[in-house]
Amino acid sequence: MVAWRAVSVGAVAASAVAAAVVLPVEGGPSRPQAQAVAAATARPLAGKVIVIDPGHNGRNYKHPKVINRKVPAGPFKKACDTTGTATDSGYAEHAYTFDVATRMARLLRAQGATVHLTRPNDTGVGPCVNQRAALANKVRAHAAISIHADGAPGKRRGFHVILPGYVKGYTGPIVTPSKWLGYDIRYAFRKGTGQPYANYIGRDGLDVRTDLGGLNMSKVPKVFIECGNMRNATDAARMRSAAWRQRAAVSLATGMAHYLKR
Ligand SMILES: [Zn+2]
Repeated sequence: MVAWRAVSVGAVAASAVAAAVVLPVEGGPSRPQAQAVAAATARPLAGKVIVIDPGHNGRNYKHPKVINRKVPAGPFKKACDTTGTATDSGYAEHAYTFDVATRMARLLRAQGATVHLTRPNDTGVGPCVNQRAALANKVRAHAAISIHADGAPGKRRGFHVILPGYVKGYTGPIVTPSKWLGYDIRYAFRKGTGQPYANYIGRDGLDVRTDLGGLNMSKVPKVFIECGNMRNATDAARMRSAAWRQRAAVSLATGMAHYLKR
């Protein structure tokens, strides 16, 4: 296993490149070397395909028939989607997830990655959880992440990453790579945002589930993250802050980039 270093996405690339290229003692690198270093440093994720799924959608609540219909979610069916939760002041999970996803996409594209979001805006309905997984399968994503925030009783707080458990005939091929993705996301998110591990679910910021269609229907490495509890005052204040959401996005992009360089 590669040792995990807490440095920015760009710094990882720069240090990796610097270590890989033997520079002349005098006169600096030759022009081709310098160009190679510059190119690799600027676009370290070139060729990588990433799907970011902002959980829920802004108009789900207006279309219960659409989002309540049952869709394949593994060896069983589940509702197409849900409305998601909100802070006590009314800041909605779907708005939070879309904002963080958009910020994360911008950061990863700047590193050269091809990034797909599962929904283009925050004013639509769906798509269903199986369709969100299907997009990543279709574009053969190297990795996918579904961004959420929880709605638990108010004294509970912290974040957790949800890994796919083994579901026969479904998640077998993705269980192990998703675990590595989850480790990288967990490390980067705690380091970058200061969020503690959830004190009410999972263990050390990780939970394993076999009931989520978004994971069961995925053929590519995928995790969910519940960034905090929107019903907790401390977590809610963070999620309402645009500056903190940027930190969340940077952290998620850093963790994703680390996974993609494994
Ligand atoms: Zn959610």
